[in-house]
Amino acid sequence: MSDDVKIVRQIGKYSVKAIQSKCIAAASCVAIAPNIFKLNEENLVEIIEKGKDEPDNIMLAAQSCPTGAIEIWEGDKRLWPPL
Ligand code: SF4
Repeated sequence: MSDDVKIVRQIGKYSVKAIQSKCIAAASCVAIAPNIFKLNEENLVEIIEKGKDEPDNIMLAAQSCPTGAIEIWEGDKRLWPPL
């Protein structure tokens, strides 16, 4: 479903993808990693430009998403959600 990927940013070692069509505005990602994720005016997740955080915390935020709307990649390997 690569057509659904709206935002991709390289943050440290991770490539972070936010799939807005899966976002239900639960905001747990924002609560855990507010330097990385925000909700836009349509209540859809966005990745803050030049946002920085620890890799473990970015992963935790992705894992907190109830719909798997945040993917974490390292190179061409998807680390989250697990394949
Ligand atoms: S946790 Fe998931 S559903 Fe909730 S705002 Fe973040 S991306 Fe959207």
